[in-house]
Order: sequence, then structure tokens, then C-alpha cells
Amino acid sequence: MDDARLMRYARHILLDELGVEGQERLLAARVLIVGAGGLGSPAALYLAAAGVGRLVLVDDDVVELSNLQRQILHTTAGLGQPKAESGRRALLALNPDIQVRARVERLDEARLRVLAAEADLVLDCCDNFATRHAINRACVATRTPLVSGAAIKFSGQVSVYDLRRDDSPCYYCLFPEADDVEELRCATTGVLGPLLGMVGSVQATEAIKLLAGLGDPLVGRLLSVDALRMQWHTIRFKRDPGCPVCARRAPAAAGCSGG
Ligand SMILES: [Zn+2]
Repeated sequence: MDDARLMRYARHILLDELGVEGQERLLAARVLIVGAGGLGSPAALYLAAAGVGRLVLVDDDVVELSNLQRQILHTTAGLGQPKAESGRRALLALNPDIQVRARVERLDEARLRVLAAEADLVLDCCDNFATRHAINRACVATRTPLVSGAAIKFSGQVSVYDLRRDDSPCYYCLFPEADDVEELRCATTGVLGPLLGMVGSVQATEAIKLLAGLGDPLVGRLLSVDALRMQWHTIRFKRDPGCPVCARRAPAAAGCSGG
């Protein structure tokens, strides 16, 4: 590692649990971030600052004035530009030592699977259930660890699905997909700006832990925050053995596509 990197990442390298070895893992890592909005903004900024070497930022929206109250990756000068490209510029301005690829597209199932297979980890920073379930299916199929966050009004939640592990639940185990679910969207419901910073920062923290191999990941635990009362709660949950998404996946490390 050269002097500039030793200096840039010094406060992470000083951490015994992380060190030069952990930093090198971060520099070698590739992370797919789905959504460059309220959650994707803080998560991507922290991962870029931490030197996660290759980020793929996906979003098909453009920056609107009503985004800027919370989507801190974007600025007034970026109004009307694709969020993925506005985000890419901000991340490279923060850290030119990394590679950032911007993808201005709404990913279908097949594309998600390709991008998940290329990634060491996926951050779900999207804003709707259909995409969340599609991301989960892609991560289950490719056994890619998934860090999923959500926030609305004053409530947020985060969990980690380490789909490399046979005992890890998937997103569907916790939130089965239902047709009749009424979806709350920030666009119509409102959300407190800094709450997204709290949740997105927890996502970045869990991503760094998984990539560098330290600590205990938030697997099988759902962390929730109520910002109005400023209370955090953790509930534990297990893999659903009857889950239609993850129950019949191929065994890990089988070395062949037997499933
Ligand atoms: Zn499942």
C-alpha cells in the first residue's frame, strides 16, 4: 500500500480489527448499490470514503428539487441529471482512489442476477417492495451477501442476509411477498432526512464489517429505529425452512450447479 493510501485510510488502519489487511480487502472489494437516493447517498459516501475499490451505483431517476432535503449525494447544481451519474461524480470527488460505475437503468431480474454475481456484496437502498424482493432473489441465487435498509416517516430498519451461509435467512423469510400489501412511499408519506443517514450509515457499517471480515454481522436480527422517541430495537428471526425463495437453493460450495 502506498503512502497516499496509508494516509487516506490511516484512521481505519489504526483499528486493530481492521488494519492494513482489512483495508486491502476493502480496496479489492466490489459493491453493488441499488438506489442512489436517501439511503444510497450516505451508504455510498461512506463506502467511497472507506476506499471500497469498486462501486456500482444503479438508479434510473433524475435529481429533483424535492430529493435534496435528504439525498446528500446530490446538489442543487445536479438538478435534472441522472442520480447515478450525479452520485458517481460526488463519490469520485470525495475519493479518486476508487472506481465508480454509474448505471442509469431499472434492473430487471436477469440484470440484477448478473450484477449481483459480479459483486462481493449488495446494498439494497431502493424504495419499493417489488425491487427489494427481486434483489433478494438475485442474491439468494448467486449467494451474495445482502445488506437491506428501509425508512419511512420516523421509522427505519436494517438487516443483513449473508446468503453465503446456509443458516442465514433471506429477505423473504422475514417479509413474505404479498399482493395486498399497502406500500408507503416517501414521495407521498414523508421521511425525516437524517433518519436516512442513520439507516444508510448502519448499512455502510455492516458492509465494511462483512467485506473486511470483522465483528458480528446483523444476520438473523432486524434492527429498527424510532427516531421520534429515539429508540432502537433488535428482534431476532430465523430462516424459514419453507421459504419459497431460499429453501431450495443449491448447496454452498458444491462446485456445480446441482440445484
Ligand atoms: Zn428465505
